[in-house]
Amino acid sequence: MMILVEKMTAFLKKTVPVPIVIAVSSGIVVGGIFGLSIPLLVAAHSERVASYEEVAALSMVEDALRFAGRSHSEEAGFSYVTLPGIQKYDGPRLAQTMPIETKEAWLSWMSKNRNDDPFFLEERWQWAQDLVLTSELKRPEDVRAFLLTPREHFVRARNKGLEYANTWLQIGYGATITDPDVVSMMTSTLKVQHGDKVLEIGTGSGYQSAILSYLTKDVYTIEIIKPLFIETDALYRELEKSFPSYSVINRKLGDGYYGWEEYAPFDKIIVTCSIDHIPPPLLKQLNPGGIMVLPLGPPNRQYIMEIVKNEAEDGSITLSRRDVYNGLSVKFIPFRDDRGSSYSTPLPPEE
Ligand code: SAH
Repeated sequence: MMILVEKMTAFLKKTVPVPIVIAVSSGIVVGGIFGLSIPLLVAAHSERVASYEEVAALSMVEDALRFAGRSHSEEAGFSYVTLPGIQKYDGPRLAQTMPIETKEAWLSWMSKNRNDDPFFLEERWQWAQDLVLTSELKRPEDVRAFLLTPREHFVRARNKGLEYANTWLQIGYGATITDPDVVSMMTSTLKVQHGDKVLEIGTGSGYQSAILSYLTKDVYTIEIIKPLFIETDALYRELEKSFPSYSVINRKLGDGYYGWEEYAPFDKIIVTCSIDHIPPPLLKQLNPGGIMVLPLGPPNRQYIMEIVKNEAEDGSITLSRRDVYNGLSVKFIPFRDDRGSSYSTPLPPEE
């Protein structure tokens, strides 16, 4: 078979002019994209619930096409690193002054001090009460952060009506906004203290870092998908006008596997993409006594693990780990390198 392909390639090289080869290959690529998108569109619109992979693949095709059509000027002003954090707006202090004893007191404070849509305030209050009852959202600081973060701005327009649904949602580019249950589980595991330096891997929608900005003034986040980075960076810039605490979120386009050496060490690290091992650079950049939370496991199933880095008096390092979801598995977007390959080894095929 290989010999046949080689012979054909050599023959084509000799006989077919370059423009025709380019035209034919572009035809195949474009045909491929549409060929893939039609079954995916059918799958997404049929009665059957499309699988996670189908939804992700569909959104990647959509976004590849959308982004390909973007003009260069839309990217003007784009920078690979946005470091607004020097302003150090005190989100945690704002959170502390907010009354949360009754819905009425909270609503009246929110309408005086913030710029939220009243419709979503009602939804957010009820949703947070439910999370406190059913999830790990218990620490008052975390509850306050959830009540202050307008999820409606992060879920993307395509998810209208599902802003406070208890589910993950696709946000484009094959990425998702994590479901609120898991966000509360991971956030509460970090036990963020005012003053902690926190690093997030996988900015995605921007929602997790927005929550963190009400817990500490030192937030760092890294995203690897360029158009998604640009979109969320622009969203933060826009939201900062009404919600100044997002000005403490330092953001970078890059491969989070290597952490953010320049600003290390971090007191807390949250990884929001799945991987079957702890990235050594991240472990190195975690302070002794620091906590890392990550979805650990092979590509199709992970467990949310809390890793605590302990340093003994003689300087030796030990790690303690805990499955914070008590054996319940989750499925996160893969932790990938800059060529799109997963950092995890796939499981062997089933017998
Ligand atoms: N924390 C996000 C969840 C996004 S899903 C939120 O609140 O919405 C996981 C994200 O991890 C995706 O956006 C994906 O592009 C990103 N990701 C995957 N590999 C990465 C890497 N090597 N470095 C940084 N981000 C990565």
